[in-house]
Amino acid sequence: MIMNNIISLENPPEMLLEVKNLKKYFEKNHGLIDTLLGKTEYVKAVDQVRFSIRKGETLCLVGESGCGKTTIAKILLGLLQATEGEILYKGEDLTKCVPKRFKELRTKIQMIFQDPYASLDPRATVYDSVAEPLEVNGLTHNKHEKVMAALELAKLLPVEKYLYKYPHQLSGGERQRVGVATALVMNPDFVIADEPTSMLDVSVQANLLSLLQDLKRKNNLTMLFITHNLSVAYVFGDRLAIMYLGRIVEMGTTEIIKNEPLHPYTKALFSVVPRLHPDGHGKTILEGDIPDASHIPSGCPFHPRCPEAQERCQTIVPELEEIGNERQVACILVSKMIPV
Ligand code: SF4
Repeated sequence: MIMNNIISLENPPEMLLEVKNLKKYFEKNHGLIDTLLGKTEYVKAVDQVRFSIRKGETLCLVGESGCGKTTIAKILLGLLQATEGEILYKGEDLTKCVPKRFKELRTKIQMIFQDPYASLDPRATVYDSVAEPLEVNGLTHNKHEKVMAALELAKLLPVEKYLYKYPHQLSGGERQRVGVATALVMNPDFVIADEPTSMLDVSVQANLLSLLQDLKRKNNLTMLFITHNLSVAYVFGDRLAIMYLGRIVEMGTTEIIKNEPLHPYTKALFSVVPRLHPDGHGKTILEGDIPDASHIPSGCPFHPRCPEAQERCQTIVPELEEIGNERQVACILVSKMIPV
């Protein structure tokens, strides 16, 4: 059975990653005239996001598609530049590193991609795919041993059977395990897994989650696990960060949030998963689609869909506020700072 790590609050492990006030705004293209007149508008894909991850911990970023989860992953990996904010990795700000230092640190931050079909080169054998990050980073000393060890960790056994196969000769689950081996071959400190099970059959998903949980425990891996699936987040995450329209709206330990979700959006997500619902039954209370990030509603961005919205929610933007027990919520109903 998959179990969450227990992180002691009295004697917590060292901090591996701290993200502070992270913003990613994309410019909307309105043409030259608007640009000259200074009428540039922005799509706020990620706005004022802050979170931290301790060594050995897994933080699950949860939210509907388009809420900014993958944009955060891309910024952490250096695939997108942050508009503003700090990303402290072992105390060093990745946004301010010179390229050479960023490349060094980046070797210890690896990614497991969502799409095992698209993330592998169809012309490369399993061996070549797993060896590629070593080649790219000039870390080819003991290359063969490293590749074999990574494939073993990813449970592609017996390893010899897979070494010279091409992606089209593998099942979806086997391809995703090659993706896992490709991340592990670099002996990472920190792994970002972006919806790693969403393209797999349900029967294969559980096996992959079990493998990742095993690796996490045995290798003390620290993970940022991105998912839209709250059931997966619940079994996999030590802590949850619930995202809505580019912002984190609730964050805390999985157990505490599961037992008492406070933000109306979190409650809505839990309500559609019957076995996670505090009352043991589910009912859909979330109506409508997530708005376009280029037209974020005024006030609390969730107010047009919020079943508990008040009139003042149309004008007040609730900040993510510490409410005790290492838990943060962004809602006026929970806020200690916004008067009733
Ligand atoms: Fe709902 Fe208002 Fe809370 Fe936003 S601030 S989640 S609209 S109650």
